Amino acid sequence: MRYGSSARQRMSKMNEAKLIACHECDLLQWETALTDGGTARCQRCGATLYRSLPATFDRALALTVAAAILFAIANCFPVVGLWVNGTLVNTTLFGAASSLYADGMWAIAGLVFVTTILMPALNIAAVIYLLLPLQLGGFPQKPEIVLRVLRHIAPWGMIEVLMLGLLVALVKLQHIASVVPGVAIWAFGAVMVLLAAAAVTFNPRDSWARIGGVRNNTDVSYGVAASSSTTATGARAGLFTCHHCDLLSKPPAHAHGASCPRCNASLHLRKPDSLKRTWAFTFAAMILYIPAALLPIMVTSTLFGAQSDTIISGVVYLWTTGSWSLAVIVFIASVVVPMLKILSLTYLAWSTQLRSALIPRERTRIYRIVEFVGRWSMLDIYVITILVALVQFGSVASIEAGPGAIAFGAVVVLTMFAALSFDPRLIWDAVELERE
Ligand SMILES: [Zn+2]
Ligand SMILES: [Zn+2]
Repeated sequence: MRYGSSARQRMSKMNEAKLIACHECDLLQWETALTDGGTARCQRCGATLYRSLPATFDRALALTVAAAILFAIANCFPVVGLWVNGTLVNTTLFGAASSLYADGMWAIAGLVFVTTILMPALNIAAVIYLLLPLQLGGFPQKPEIVLRVLRHIAPWGMIEVLMLGLLVALVKLQHIASVVPGVAIWAFGAVMVLLAAAAVTFNPRDSWARIGGVRNNTDVSYGVAASSSTTATGARAGLFTCHHCDLLSKPPAHAHGASCPRCNASLHLRKPDSLKRTWAFTFAAMILYIPAALLPIMVTSTLFGAQSDTIISGVVYLWTTGSWSLAVIVFIASVVVPMLKILSLTYLAWSTQLRSALIPRERTRIYRIVEFVGRWSMLDIYVITILVALVQFGSVASIEAGPGAIAFGAVVVLTMFAALSFDPRLIWDAVELERE
């Protein structure tokens, strides 16, 4: 985007239009009014900048309260039951995590607890905390802290992956005994739909604008016109995008350790130590991928001996027993996604390190995909959790989690951290450098 005289004229009307910087390439753009349901995309990298949604905080609150009630039900009732010799054995989700913990698999138990119980619960609680006072005509206390926390919680709640995991577990359990889907499985399904609908009606951008209050009106338009011959980016204009609330602001010159005027987070032009951290997490994931693929993730003991299952043999089992579609889903989620993620992150970190200016748009898209699909690799962890909890029939048959599962869980978490550490604006910084 280049600024000619018409742009300067528009800048003089800055009270009507708002300047924003793309969170993926740092290009400065003017916010424009959208039709309802419209989406504004970055003209340089194609990132979704914002969506126009009818401001319906009361609808978001209603959906979230409904999700809270169903989430409580989902956690009080069994997810799956198994008929064994005339008795029904069943487990709640928390019970399943506890049995992993009791087996000494505390790392996986913790991962399951955090991603399916703690984070969704915090997410629901935070939204209700923010919206209920507004509905009652008041105002929430310290909304900026809660909104910041909410942003960091969101990627770690994985109810939709849990649902798929429960489905795969049901299919696997059918081969062992007669399966009874519990009340909780339906409740979790409803929670998944309600949370998705609530997330659409309650987007952080609108909530900052309404709840963030007086500190929204930072004048950031000056300084942009000075660089009329080059691409106008936030960095070039000395404008910082807050990594916690997305507010664009201009800290006072020579300010040491400037902080966001709206949410008080410390400001950085780019994510601090982005490449170093991406490399470190990706390397660790690369190394742990080997034991994750080779060591057993599950050990089944029966009267006739013990049988170990790796990720691949689990896929083969699904395939040979006729569950082809599930075999393909598990193969993609557990084998293809982690491998592609590690390769993509390596490529992104490496090309950015070399300041490559090649195909920046495509590389930004790779980053976007990696960030989006990573969570689905948790699938196998949830399947193991349910199987371990239910198949405990003393010496007749029992399933335990194997060391491969710990390595696999670590790979999923490390690649998620790597993707969160990577700053796609570094890709575009190299493009700028090339152009000069
Ligand atoms: Zn962009
Ligand atoms: Zn902020």
